[in-house]
Amino acid sequence: KASKKQSKRIQVFSHRMYQEALETLAIQRDLPSAIRNGQIKPVFQPIVCCDSGEIVGFEALARWQHKERGAISPCRFIPMAEESNLIVELGEQVLTQACQFIQHLNQMRSDQQKPALSVHVNFSAHHFSSTALLDNLVSTLEKTKLSPEQLVIEITESMLIERPAESVKRMEQIKQLGVNLALDDFGTGYSALNTLCQYPLDVVKLDRSFVLRLMDGQQGEALVRAIINMAKDLNLPMVAEGVETYEQMLKIKALGVSEIQGFYYYRPMPAEEVFALFEKNAADKTSLM
Ligand code: C2E
Ligand code: MG
Ligand code: MG
Ligand code: MG
Repeated sequence: KASKKQSKRIQVFSHRMYQEALETLAIQRDLPSAIRNGQIKPVFQPIVCCDSGEIVGFEALARWQHKERGAISPCRFIPMAEESNLIVELGEQVLTQACQFIQHLNQMRSDQQKPALSVHVNFSAHHFSSTALLDNLVSTLEKTKLSPEQLVIEITESMLIERPAESVKRMEQIKQLGVNLALDDFGTGYSALNTLCQYPLDVVKLDRSFVLRLMDGQQGEALVRAIINMAKDLNLPMVAEGVETYEQMLKIKALGVSEIQGFYYYRPMPAEEVFALFEKNAADKTSLM
């Protein structure tokens, strides 16, 4: 009786695995042409200043609108693209579109006295270490006429740990262009004080998992506070990722985090939606612009 039940379960399991494998193959098959045909585009999630409540920047997040499969998550296709050299081409596309987006938005509100908004772009290890990166960055900034300080390149700790010496060199080259650097998913890797001191960083992004742990009670909160204070002691501004609720927002603010990126404020939006939001707010004469 038990073995019959078990074999049935194995059947269901293997069928699902088979379906998943098929889907993975199909996504893999369609990825090169999707990149070539510009079917993968960034959406933009606002980053909000805790003190003023105003939008200070955006993160560009890649989205693949597949004809048959609908929206495919970057968690699925970015690792695939990373396995091949496709990631460099995809990274360049997202970078160009992100620069165009923020340049356009800043021009829309250029008559305002407020500081320019910045755009964050995620870089993969391959893209970050590619030989053509610096030339491409310079030409993208020229082409889009964007001031380099309005661009923030997000890298992760694992990229730094694999090749520390080369990473520092690359980071310094990027900094020399005037472009800013952010450490993404902070706290999930080997994050230690010396990681933060060693590298020329402008901002760290607290991973969403810590925002969740804040609600775990005292122990969770003590851990998150220690991580936040580490960045504070080094005078590194911090963006808390994945803030979804009012309670989380209050706690994050109380711990002295400077900026928040999360569904509580905004979800990622297509560029046109961001433009419309800013136009509407300019018309309403509210403070957004
Ligand atoms: P990430 O860079 O850490 O980006 C933040 C992720 O958290 C995004 O997921 C965003 O939509 C999500 N998020 C933001 N606020 C909330 C919230 O309040 N609640 C929840 N549940 N999620 C929130 P997304 O867009 O699915 O991207 C996942 C990851 O894929 C990114 O993590 C990044 O590592 C990678 N990725 C996305 N776009 C690119 C890209 O253009 N290039 C590269 N190399 N990687 C990318
Ligand atoms: Mg990121
Ligand atoms: Mg992150
Ligand atoms: Mg993350």
